[in-house]
Amino acid sequence: AHLDRIAAVDERVHAFLHVDREGALAAARAVDEQRARGEELGPLAGVPVAVKDVIATRGIPTTAASKILEGWKPPYDATIVQRLRAAGTVMLGKTNMDEFAMGSSTEYSAYGPTNNPWDLGRIPGGSGGGSAASLAAYEAPLAIGTDTGGSIRQPGAVTGTVGAKPTYGGTSRYGLIAFSSSLDTPGPCARTVEDAALLHAVIAGHDPRDSTSIPQPVPDVVAAARRGAGGDLTGVKLGLVKEFAGEGAEPGVLAAFHESVEALVKLGAEVVEISCPHFEYALPAYYLIAPSEASSNLARFDGVRYGLRVGDDGNRSLEEVMSLTREAGFGPEVKRRIILGTYALSSGYYDAYYGQAQKVRTLITRDFTSAFERVDVLISPTTPFVAFPFGSRTSDPYQMYLADLYTIPTNLYGGPAISVPCGLSEGLPVGFQVMAPTMADDRMYRVAAALE
Ligand code: GLN
Repeated sequence: AHLDRIAAVDERVHAFLHVDREGALAAARAVDEQRARGEELGPLAGVPVAVKDVIATRGIPTTAASKILEGWKPPYDATIVQRLRAAGTVMLGKTNMDEFAMGSSTEYSAYGPTNNPWDLGRIPGGSGGGSAASLAAYEAPLAIGTDTGGSIRQPGAVTGTVGAKPTYGGTSRYGLIAFSSSLDTPGPCARTVEDAALLHAVIAGHDPRDSTSIPQPVPDVVAAARRGAGGDLTGVKLGLVKEFAGEGAEPGVLAAFHESVEALVKLGAEVVEISCPHFEYALPAYYLIAPSEASSNLARFDGVRYGLRVGDDGNRSLEEVMSLTREAGFGPEVKRRIILGTYALSSGYYDAYYGQAQKVRTLITRDFTSAFERVDVLISPTTPFVAFPFGSRTSDPYQMYLADLYTIPTNLYGGPAISVPCGLSEGLPVGFQVMAPTMADDRMYRVAAALE
């Protein structure tokens, strides 16, 4: 049914870069056969899932929406993909995104944007716009995204779906094409909080192949989501981030957010206003740290190891081939990040830019830890504005970067955060963000589920 739905609507939505029809049907049949033989089935047996194209899938094209990886078929599965298969899920295909996950609208995909199912003239968010749109268009019931600065949560917010960024290190990065390694976090996208928790439980947990993977048991996120759905938040303290709840966001976004805060109070929660004075520096710190790490990570795309190679006619030097390949293979936003990052890391500037940004990161982490001494979770809108029309923020990169104003602090800290739909503004979905302490992903699910 989902393959039929994709065939019917994806020409208009363009959530997918690749649909693996044969693979999906074979996986579904395998589950049927297992069932017929009376074998024990995986926890998500037969449930279709869409996977962001930045995650390696064995034998299936993986491009990170870049021309430089066009035609590349990974020889291995990411750990997350292995776990999805072991759980019995059926992978439908690979979803569209901003090139190398750099962006907030999918307009930077080298293969054309994804359209928001709520209004095809508007962005579906980014970078994981394809995963979120596939859910909103009922092309998939579950999807995988990656969140470096908001790329799971912001697309969730603007498509009226649920997107959760787990604790950094709670989900394996093995097989994820690296953007900013100290921030990249794969996570679940779904239409309900409980569905997100079920997917979270399947993909999370220690992986010896990722050196930053946390060797601790995953909190019981499914039980927490079910408990929250019961609607009792007695004794739960919500910290309303003062800096994110006033001016700066669209009035309709703020109205929907504050209405939901009232609803949580009716369920027994207590709301405390919390000031996080360093959050306003998160965006500039992120746009030094993330491009610095990206400039290093993207050095591997040299025209030799994977995908595209340009100008290799036997007369050119290796360096000329590399530079022609990179010039032709990378899009404008990726080049901007590489240039920014290379500059920030260059000798003489390192301390002033990268070093300074790391210090700011520490101050932001302290804002979180001192807030969590007083409250259980922090809350804010997910993004300052609803889905915007195509082209309205591409001419000024800073306008695009603002989409992640409220999501980025969590990435710098490393804790979990989720976006849940909380009503409409001018007919378009608004997202409510719940941020929790590291490894308290269960707490985040409990509060999020109470909102539904
Ligand atoms: N929009 C942010 C960026 O462009 C976040 C990206 C992400 O989370 N992958 O870097």
